[in-house]
Amino acid sequence: MSHVFPRHTKSNLPTIASGQGCYLIDSTGKQYFDGSGGAAVSCLGHGDKVVTEAIKSQLDKVAYAHTSFFTSEPAEQLADFLIDHAPGDLDRVYFVSGGSEAVEASLKLARQYFLEIGQASRHRVIARRQSYHGNTLGALAAGGNLWRREPFSPLMIETSHISPCYEYRGRTEGESATDYGLRVANELEAEILRLGPESVMAFVAEPVVGATLGAVPPVEGYFKRIRKICDQYGILLILDEVMCGMGRTGTLYACEQDGIAPDIMTIAKGLGAGYQPIGAMLCTSGIYDAIENGSGFFQHGHTYIGHPTACAAGLAVATSIVDRDLLSAVNSMGEKLKAELNRQFGQHPHISDIRGRGLFLGLEIVEDRGSKKPFSPDRQINKKLKKATFDAGLICYPMGGTIDGQNGDHILLAPPFIISDSQIDEVVGKLNNAIKDVL
Ligand code: PMP
Repeated sequence: MSHVFPRHTKSNLPTIASGQGCYLIDSTGKQYFDGSGGAAVSCLGHGDKVVTEAIKSQLDKVAYAHTSFFTSEPAEQLADFLIDHAPGDLDRVYFVSGGSEAVEASLKLARQYFLEIGQASRHRVIARRQSYHGNTLGALAAGGNLWRREPFSPLMIETSHISPCYEYRGRTEGESATDYGLRVANELEAEILRLGPESVMAFVAEPVVGATLGAVPPVEGYFKRIRKICDQYGILLILDEVMCGMGRTGTLYACEQDGIAPDIMTIAKGLGAGYQPIGAMLCTSGIYDAIENGSGFFQHGHTYIGHPTACAAGLAVATSIVDRDLLSAVNSMGEKLKAELNRQFGQHPHISDIRGRGLFLGLEIVEDRGSKKPFSPDRQINKKLKKATFDAGLICYPMGGTIDGQNGDHILLAPPFIISDSQIDEVVGKLNNAIKDVL
């Protein structure tokens, strides 16, 4: 009997033995294509020598040093790198160990910022329905994923939720994409006015929605309007790039493609690329200075923040993405994967939308293409797809069915940036075999 406490207590999981390139191999020797990089984590694949050597040589230097007493070379270098490549005025980096911690830190920073500048009434958060920002209590409070939130209500942070920018389901007939984007963005203004602007501290959103909707990008103009509304009412814009950041969408950060920059940004998954647990929160100098000129002390912290080994891994990953020109690979391979998906599934009666940016692609699964009617959750399509793709030797990220009963199922693909032409054919072939069995 295993004494590991698994997520699904009744599961009987195979044991992972090794990974190489885009493949995972279990203890029986079965090989799987890592088609979602875990959950958009493994951007460099497995066994990347640049990263493993950077970790080993840093590990030989020091095990641990508390960040109240020391900074470290890898932390300083990684922070410099991230700031040099960051959108807008982001100027400071706070390291954490993962995505939820990054979101948690951003919410606390936003709150403390308003306390330091004498606007204590600003405590409310606005986010979007069907969003996921992490599983710790603050991040869970921000998220709009009802089935995750409800068991833990009441949550500590007061959050209200507006519509996501989800063109496939939200845009009405005859409405242009631009008008749709403005309409959903304007829900933010209406919500701020309903709550009272002086009570709202932040709007939180994922530029390209990953896990909950399946790689849904915003329509053009949506985030420009959001940025304007936040500025107009003095509200901080927190962009959660935990999943879509670090090159996944073809630019280092997804928001670059929307022509805006946040006040606070969270990153994680692809930063450690699976080699080390690391995340980060980036903020503007304006926010940092308010703390520095105020109490001088960010009321937050975890034992493992800025761990030198994790930062060494992050530095090797981030520099590899840029120096090896992997963003070009993400763009060209992403285009090819999308084209192949369209060729294979473009006319499929149950696959009605193939979308995404770069190597962050989603397929919407429906019962009926014409009406866009989702399968009923009792059909457990996502569970069946998860099993069928796994049996076919493809790890991907089928989700849905239970997401607030509002949308159906989807498959998220987020393969490593090193995927080759022939491996794209392999992914689409395996996906096709699995889909044939289920749909
Ligand atoms: N934000 C987003 C957008 C995510 O996709 C996730 C993880 N799926 C998180 C936050 C939480 O990250 P972690 O699981 O590393 O805590």
